[in-house]
Amino acid sequence: MATHNNKYLLLNLPNPVNQNIYREFAGGFGTLGSLSSETLIPTYLLYGASGLRDMGADFEVLDAQGLMYDYETSLEVIDSSSPDVVITWLSLPSLYDDLDLVEKIKEKVGTVVVLGAIGNVMPEKVLEKADLVVKAGYPHYNAVKNIFKGIEEDDFAQIEGAFYYDENQILVQNPVKYEETVDNLWFDVYKEIPINSYLGDVEGIDKSFNCVPILTAVGCPYSCMYCPYPLGYGRKVVHKSVKQTVKEIKYLKENFGINGFVFRAQNFTYDHKWINEFCDTIIKENLNINWLAETRADLVSPELLQKMKSSGCFRIHYGVETTADELQKIGKPGLDINKIKETFKITRDLKIFTMAHMIIGLPGENNKTLDKTIQTIIELNPDAMSVNIATPYPGTKLFDIADNEKLIETYDFSKYTSFDSVMRTKNYSKKELLEAKKRMKREFIKNKILCDSSFRKRYLRSIPRKLKARMISFV
Ligand code: SF4
Repeated sequence: MATHNNKYLLLNLPNPVNQNIYREFAGGFGTLGSLSSETLIPTYLLYGASGLRDMGADFEVLDAQGLMYDYETSLEVIDSSSPDVVITWLSLPSLYDDLDLVEKIKEKVGTVVVLGAIGNVMPEKVLEKADLVVKAGYPHYNAVKNIFKGIEEDDFAQIEGAFYYDENQILVQNPVKYEETVDNLWFDVYKEIPINSYLGDVEGIDKSFNCVPILTAVGCPYSCMYCPYPLGYGRKVVHKSVKQTVKEIKYLKENFGINGFVFRAQNFTYDHKWINEFCDTIIKENLNINWLAETRADLVSPELLQKMKSSGCFRIHYGVETTADELQKIGKPGLDINKIKETFKITRDLKIFTMAHMIIGLPGENNKTLDKTIQTIIELNPDAMSVNIATPYPGTKLFDIADNEKLIETYDFSKYTSFDSVMRTKNYSKKELLEAKKRMKREFIKNKILCDSSFRKRYLRSIPRKLKARMISFV
């Protein structure tokens, strides 16, 4: 029972100057995106709003990033909204800017609450600027409901995962609980955000499709040593029900004419019962959509891929990371290279666009492992490849190893973008890792231009966009 009737503002922080932060990537730590591309839909904002609505709260939603507000405009809008409580989320590459802004918001607002992966792993740092940090798993529907209840009843002690100083300035930390459902989305919240800002053009084999992301599951039980996802999204896989997912697709189609979707889940095909039922429903109801998802190469079968294709799947992102045995054992345990090869072949034969996600710079990376991975990626022949440099996200096993072995070159978290080099290996310096990344991309592109006419066309088509991105970054 509410006792205060506070006004709440759910805030997606603006981008720092000349940066585009993909705040939900890297397990909620965020990565640095291209300035020429769209922003990522803040799923946590949608679920947070759903939680407040279900509690009967007085609230507003401000997606300062989606609206492309700068810091000053964001502060002015917050001022005019006059909330009593602001709930927000931080990212690692923008951490110092985000914290500065939180401090400024704190000067205007009674209570500032921070949620998300950064709060989960470095709550003390965040608490220097905020009143309350709540450790929880994405997408924070229940966490926001608990925050509301705790604040309205003047009782932070009842908020699961709360991290705060009590009236005696003693640090309190309540036990953490991860989300157990992702079904509670209030669909009309899509009307509260600038949805067109999140529509992105995504390449397929023959053409590209305008897509918007939908969260379909959270959690991953695997133990890839570099991966921050289990820290932000939990280890238990929690699916949105097939019924709710299909309802959401229909809502977005009917209200916004959207028929392209990025189904966001750490491993979209983890539960074969779910994915089979989902594809069957799309086919049976003739939804006529185009979609892409990300998964592990050992979580699909030829039959499943065929069904996915029939239900509109035009693109799959596979986490390959490295193909050198010694690195795979520590980096991606349990994933067999022959299975990866077979999966890429079947996916390609079905004319589904394949993207291989690669990582270089895991501990032990050297010339031999790099050569082996480059050779295998050319053999796998994906339609596209992205290369990240191993980033020791705080809280991961990679961070502990790199920290103990003194491999980390900087603790300036604004450099933890996932594309910069912040740690070395025993064989490669930071600079050599950046060069190794360029070499892997160069070899891949050279081979594709020579052997793949559809890649050649796409590559030529992408040049203006790449030039535009480069020019924007120079401005
Ligand atoms: S499979 Fe590995 S890389 Fe992928 S989300 Fe899970 S832990 Fe992370």
